[in-house]
Amino acid sequence: MTDIERHSYDVVVIGAGGAGLRAAIEARLAGKRTAIICKSLFGKAHTVMAEGGAAAAMGNVNPNDNWQVHFRDTMRGGKFMNHWRMAELHAKEAPERIWELETYGALFDRTPEGKISQRNFGGHEYPRLAHVGDRTGLELIRTLQQKIVSLQQEDYAATGDYEANIRVFAETTITEILSTGGAVSGCFGYYRESGDFLLFEAPAVVLATGGIGKSFKVTSNSWEYTGDGHALALRSGAKLLNMEFVQFHPTGMVWPPSVKGILVTESVRGDGGVLRNADGKRFMFDYVPDVFRKQYAETEEEGDRWYTDPDNNRRPPELLPRDEVARAINAEVKAGRGSPRGGVFLDIASRRSAEFIHKRLPSMYHQFKELADVDITKEPMEVGPTCHYVMGGVEVDPDTGAATVPGLFAAGEVSGGMHGSNRLGGNSLSDLLVFGKRAGDGAASYVAGLPARPVVADDDVTAAVQTALAPFERAGGPSPYEVHAELQQTLNDLVGIIRRQPELEQAVERIAELRKRIDTVAAPPGRRYNPGWHLCLDLRNMLMVGECVARAALERQESRGGHTRDDYPGMSADWRQVNLVCTANDADEVTVAHQPLPEMPRRLQELFERSELAKYLTEAELAAFDQAASAPGGSDAGAAQAGTADGRTATGAGEAGGAEPTGTSTAATDDGAATDGGEK
Ligand SMILES: Cc1cc2nc3c(=O)[nH]c(=O)nc-3n(C[C@H](O)[C@H](O)[C@H](O)COP(=O)(O)OP(=O)(O)OC[C@H]3O[C@@H](n4cnc5c(N)ncnc54)[C@H](O)[C@@H]3O)c2cc1C
Repeated sequence: MTDIERHSYDVVVIGAGGAGLRAAIEARLAGKRTAIICKSLFGKAHTVMAEGGAAAAMGNVNPNDNWQVHFRDTMRGGKFMNHWRMAELHAKEAPERIWELETYGALFDRTPEGKISQRNFGGHEYPRLAHVGDRTGLELIRTLQQKIVSLQQEDYAATGDYEANIRVFAETTITEILSTGGAVSGCFGYYRESGDFLLFEAPAVVLATGGIGKSFKVTSNSWEYTGDGHALALRSGAKLLNMEFVQFHPTGMVWPPSVKGILVTESVRGDGGVLRNADGKRFMFDYVPDVFRKQYAETEEEGDRWYTDPDNNRRPPELLPRDEVARAINAEVKAGRGSPRGGVFLDIASRRSAEFIHKRLPSMYHQFKELADVDITKEPMEVGPTCHYVMGGVEVDPDTGAATVPGLFAAGEVSGGMHGSNRLGGNSLSDLLVFGKRAGDGAASYVAGLPARPVVADDDVTAAVQTALAPFERAGGPSPYEVHAELQQTLNDLVGIIRRQPELEQAVERIAELRKRIDTVAAPPGRRYNPGWHLCLDLRNMLMVGECVARAALERQESRGGHTRDDYPGMSADWRQVNLVCTANDADEVTVAHQPLPEMPRRLQELFERSELAKYLTEAELAAFDQAASAPGGSDAGAAQAGTADGRTATGAGEAGGAEPTGTSTAATDDGAATDGGEK
């Protein structure tokens, strides 16, 4: 048999972004020997690209913030498709996870009185994003890495071996999860540099592999986002939830072609930038949907006043959740009112001084100057939607991160449920910390409770080797780059921001054809430093995940969040009760089935006004809500507790697990701007 390097661990974490690192720390703290595996260099990963910040209701900048308000915002953003328990845990535990990062050495920006500073952001009621300038993700990764190094130093002091209990395998790709008797027994992969194979024997594997953006042509995502974790989960028998919900960030660069899709931070809009069409009109005022009407300004004057007086004015519609803004831009372009290069104009030049822009948006200034020769202090940017994030992912138990396959866990972008049909910006970084910790803990507890470790079967290893080497045996087959380009074009054209039945059917057909060709794609010879070979292996995953997105999008006959059907334009309360679940058989064939969405308990429903619930719930659900309210002991205090429907009235301080408000009440920052919002 081919030489294979063998390792044995208690917990293997695939992915070294925020979710993976936080999971690994927790597993090691629980006394488990832990491996961290990542495709790129340690310290890369998408998490490092996050700029805007991590959402956590600490109440440092506006004391009215607390977990209940954050929970409400998250559920509204996700259009009530979120797993309520995940949204609850996230809202309650995010502040603790941020404070914990400080104990690991993170240095967040401060308010004048010395608390962690918090930014405004699309869909968040109060300034809520803890941040470090415009490089929050870098600080998050740096801090978590540093914590891992400190744990390794402890291990060295105790054992003389830095890697006794936690070891990083960088530039290593996992291609298979192995299971024995229905439970995880390990995983298999290769070193990207040498092409040599590795086998990890481990009873618990945590998937923290991030998203799927590289299946789409225009994306803010990097080469690593090939949906590996999603596909690995499917192949090992786990379920993927609601893969139709893909977030198109409204503002990516549209020009020049070589940089199309690169993100333009939401901070531009948070700092006062506005969207205009070719006629110079601030068109977002025409696109405020009914569900959000009470919370957004109706005139430009009110929207502009909000920047300096957020307590007495409503926010401008440029700061609607991303799905709404992306659809509006799409509609303007389609109506012929777009910019010359097929986007719309994002204008901060006419709204803020050059000095302000240089200070607040230095990366954006350089990005446009260097890449597009546009001076954003003098002229508007041209922007359009770009594939940014996948809300769909592995179905997990909210409390432990356990997938439905024993021994398999998932956290971060690869997992599903938390963000419903649309993620609010800033909620990913806090999601990574909250559920990374929980998954690490869940995996460690699972291992501790195992009577015996499942043993990897030799046949499974042989099969993994054969699959990995197959592209070398197909001389003369199509290039993986061609197939990849076709897949990206297909998803972009047929499963993009606006979807229709005939196009989705065509997408499913084209993907089926591409999947036939995948069995013939050929890698250039030689395993050492061979990106063509790597792509052949990644393509399997991208096609499988692309099929899940297309099939689920075809199945869901409504429009909600990151899924817009031209032929079913409205939200349907009946469809809100349905999770679409993808599974795969041994031949990698995907099936989509309906599964009920877990029902939100009444204590959480009561955080919303009845009139707001009526926008999302079915008649039967509303009748049950009313009945419970009128029953002896039933409460109608929920609406009062939740504040007004527009959410501007404060609720009380957080309860157990939530944050105690500690700051002073102003959204203004020290340099005079009321908002700084924006995840890049
Ligand atoms: C440009 C940009 C800006 C963003 N800004 C923000 C922001 O300000 N706030 C916010 O909340 N969110 C932001 N997001 C979203 C957020 O950054 C991501 O959702 C989040 O970082 C994902 O973290 P993760 O730990 O799940 O995965 P990642 O950080 O992407 O890590 C994935 C890891 O898995 C590894 N991996 C993948 N496949 C394999 C495999 N087969 N074998 C081995 N390793 C593998 C990768 O190498 C990597 O280490 C932004 C996203 C982008 C693209």
